[in-house]
Amino acid sequence: MTDPTVPALVPRPLPTMPVARDPRPGVAALVEDEVAALVATLGEPSFRARQVADAAWRSPAADWEEVTTLARPLRAALAERLRFDTVAATTIQVADGGATEKALHGLSDGRFVESVLMHYPAGADRRERNTLCISSQAGCAVGCPFCATGELGFERDLDVAEIVDQARHARRRLAGAGRHLTNVVFMGMGEPLLNLEAVLAAAAALTDPARFGLGARHLTVSTSGVVPAIERLTRLRPQWTLAISLHAARDPLRDLLVPLNRRWPVREVVAAALAYGRETGRRVSYEYVMIDGINDTPVDADAVVALLRGSGAHVNCIPMNQVAHTPWRASPGQRIAAFADRLRAGGLGVTVRRNRGQEVGAACGQLAAEQAGEPPAPTVARRRELLVAASVAALRGERSVDPPPAVAGPPAPRRGVARSSPGSAGRGQGGVGEGRRAAARERR
Ligand code: SAH
Ligand code: SF4
Repeated sequence: MTDPTVPALVPRPLPTMPVARDPRPGVAALVEDEVAALVATLGEPSFRARQVADAAWRSPAADWEEVTTLARPLRAALAERLRFDTVAATTIQVADGGATEKALHGLSDGRFVESVLMHYPAGADRRERNTLCISSQAGCAVGCPFCATGELGFERDLDVAEIVDQARHARRRLAGAGRHLTNVVFMGMGEPLLNLEAVLAAAAALTDPARFGLGARHLTVSTSGVVPAIERLTRLRPQWTLAISLHAARDPLRDLLVPLNRRWPVREVVAAALAYGRETGRRVSYEYVMIDGINDTPVDADAVVALLRGSGAHVNCIPMNQVAHTPWRASPGQRIAAFADRLRAGGLGVTVRRNRGQEVGAACGQLAAEQAGEPPAPTVARRRELLVAASVAALRGERSVDPPPAVAGPPAPRRGVARSSPGSAGRGQGGVGEGRRAAARERR
């Protein structure tokens, strides 16, 4: 039910209105047998399959036209059936003196997703790293109120090639500078574990030595806590690093910051993550976005310690990247340092991260949100008010009675205490994230 107090939205056109998707799959979605079958269908000798795979995974080509190892008629036949690059419409913005590149990828249906490439120079004790942060969905249904992607609402899942092609694009750009892509992290737009089939297939392509060839240990998947999907991953035992977006260790606050907590509360998420760590032997890391006066107190730090003590967990404290339409700011540096010290004193591993690419709005989804246009000012003002009221209620320790985000999974058990605080209107349907979500629905 929509909150009647949220002002009506004036529909806003996208700069590029969504259009029908290109029906041709991307070549990056094909496994070896499928390439072989296609080549056979085209009446070509089987060795052509190797040439097509080399063109897709090894060559610097960005288009079938540039694959000069194949005859022109074959290139044309392939182009009719397969897209060489599903994120060909990409614009790049550079920040941090060239160390951060933010790519805005236009998809065939006019939607946008982002990837961010971060260069870390070699240090005394480690090699150079080039880490790419990729998107798994356009928009996101989870609706974390500090996240620009959450603001957009869910648009659609990316397909396998759209995910992998972000990495192929970055690899080509790096190769031009004589560099290599060393790490890929699913920390861009979207909740990867809500697009699990495509993410599994994309991860398989990225880590297959015959395809993209990244070491599985150089892949990280971040999740806001889709417990059944974490359990499924545990059974599959991949060698990826799992990152959990924690942001709060107490349910009332996490209900607000990560609305999926209303369905899978933090203790269930951590239990699933610990099982993943045990079964795979991989360290689980926890992301903690530091928000001034919201989740950065000594009480919050102690709650994190109580939750994770003895688990070998590593916590990354990340100052919140400023996004439009929230009343919140990053915690001051001193408070972040004090929070980190308290976690260390509690026996946890801690890294304080610095935000990359702020000058190009490198927080997850910011550029794509800008493409979607500004919601009307009264909606923004109302949303901010609702968020303030909701955070007051959460800080009082009241659990949300709002429904969890509508995502696939088992039904949520009813839990929490009913309350009549005005903050309860500020979340879920018709709540704080509703501005852009309603605008997104209008566009469909
Ligand atoms: N949906 C997944 C992965 C994508 S978000 C998840 O939430 O884990 C990747 C990371 O970016 C998450 O830890 C998320 O909390 C963080 N993030 C989102 N908005 C941010 C912001 N404004 N400032 C800093 N980090 C942010
Ligand atoms: Fe979705 Fe992750 Fe953003 Fe939350 S932080 S809205 S889960 S992309």
